[in-house]
Amino acid sequence: MGGVLLVTGGSRGIGAAICRGAAEAGYAVAINYNSSPDAAEALAKEIVAKGGKAIALKADVTQEPDVVRMFEEVDQKLGRLTALVNNAGGSRFPAAPTGNQLVDSPMIQIDGIIALNLTSAAYCSREAVKRMSTGLGGTGGAIVNVSSDCARRGGPPYRKDGVKNLVMYGAAKAGMDALTLGLSTEVADQGIRVNAVRPATIVTEAHAADGGAGHYERMARLIPMGRPGQPSEVAEAVLFLLSDKASFITAALVDVTGGR
Ligand code: NAP
Repeated sequence: MGGVLLVTGGSRGIGAAICRGAAEAGYAVAINYNSSPDAAEALAKEIVAKGGKAIALKADVTQEPDVVRMFEEVDQKLGRLTALVNNAGGSRFPAAPTGNQLVDSPMIQIDGIIALNLTSAAYCSREAVKRMSTGLGGTGGAIVNVSSDCARRGGPPYRKDGVKNLVMYGAAKAGMDALTLGLSTEVADQGIRVNAVRPATIVTEAHAADGGAGHYERMARLIPMGRPGQPSEVAEAVLFLLSDKASFITAALVDVTGGR
């Protein structure tokens, strides 16, 4: 494959699996992190030790100046961007002091979840289009957004004890789906494809932290294939959508859900 790829939230979980797979496929990988420098640096070292090219870049993707600086660092250290994965996200930002059902949610939490799961993808996609667009001197590229099956269900029905703000999470991811569709149309004649994957339950720290005892067993009962997914299974779908094998695919929302 080759090219220059930035993965937001590449330090852990699904993002780290995408970085590993992309490096094996020949991309130079920029691994974005916010609060996990050790994990990001260790992943960059692991990739370089295997003969790949990777750098770790700190940026809070909810902060526009951080995003602008991060893309400039990619320009300087790896060259012109050809691929972007908007992966940073989650349902616990900022952590709720009292509970996370909408009725309990202060503005900072509602805005925070939208900023992390939607606004950040808009900031990053804008910077990516500036570099990829054939109308702006680029050679084209591909963007993949990591959405969620919550986008089409509003949020999971399995908990009512208020650990997460899943209503706003589902709303933000639905916004990400609309961003995918709208931007794909805007840049289709500029050599840029824009797609999304929508995972259901994937075994990562985010779930381990939130779910409590028996979480994966409970989730597995909701998944026709009878098990949660692995980060590498999401990464494979993302890498396909980034690749030339998907050269006529844009505006696709690909469910990676075990049938849920
Ligand atoms: P995770 O294990 O919690 O990892 C989250 C990643 O996002 C970390 O690398 C984290 O980096 C980064 N991040 C968080 N806030 C950030 C910020 N402000 N700026 C930059 N990076 C930030 O999550 P995951 O389960 O792999 O989820 C990855 C994506 O898949 C998310 O968009 C999530 O909504 C989506 N998803 C996950 C599942 C699932 O079941 N796991 C299902 C559907 C969709 P630091 O640690 O460095 O802060």
